[in-house]
Amino acid sequence: MTRMDEETRGRKPAPLHAGLDMVRAQIRQACREAGRDEADVTLIAVSKTHGPEKIRPVLEAGQRVFGENRVQEARDKWPGLREAFAGVRLHLIGPLQTNKVRDAVRLFDVIHTVDRPKLARALAREMEKQGKNLPVFIQVNTGEEPQKAGVPPREADAFIAACRDEYGLNVTGLMCIPPVHEEPALHFALLEKIARRNGLEGLSMGMSGDFETAIRFGATHVRVGSAIFGARN
Ligand SMILES: *Cc1c(COP(=O)(O)O)cnc(C)c1O
Repeated sequence: MTRMDEETRGRKPAPLHAGLDMVRAQIRQACREAGRDEADVTLIAVSKTHGPEKIRPVLEAGQRVFGENRVQEARDKWPGLREAFAGVRLHLIGPLQTNKVRDAVRLFDVIHTVDRPKLARALAREMEKQGKNLPVFIQVNTGEEPQKAGVPPREADAFIAACRDEYGLNVTGLMCIPPVHEEPALHFALLEKIARRNGLEGLSMGMSGDFETAIRFGATHVRVGSAIFGARN
């Protein structure tokens, strides 16, 4: 049904949001060019640092999947928004300390940043306690940057196996954040290769500057912040 139809039938159409509409159109176009089904790419609207007044219009425009990088910030912002809008899915995309695991499992629906045995074990234990088995992504440090989180590529296969078999986590895919000054395509291709050989379908890759490239390389989840919300302070 078109917006016009909705208007003539007297139903209120979802209000538009310029940033969101632009990103959705770019995703649609990138999928078309890659011969992929748009339904296979989930847009995660990364709302970190932005207050509810900036997030509400994006919710009102129909977006329901959001990403936050800090547990504390999500705890301050999202319970109220979830009450006002049904069907929200919240993804944790930032590093997780084991002492925040309890809140993380309570607040989030998907966790993208599993990258070490201690965290995997703590998550498995906490999910069991809360009667949940949240989908998780394993973060791979494709650029092997010392300051960056993620398991090194050469340790990825063993860690994926341990997360599944030893800890019983619901591993749905891999996530990466390419080094700032390198060609992201190389990192997306590497992540895709590791996922494929481990039988994983989910690929969380691509941000505002490179999500179209990521879609070409098979991204199933793109994490887009500034292209939707504008620059962060
Ligand atoms: C902030 C952040 C994003 C979004 O970055 P933009 O460039 O604003 O789109 C994506 N992924 C992670 C892990 C982030 O921390």
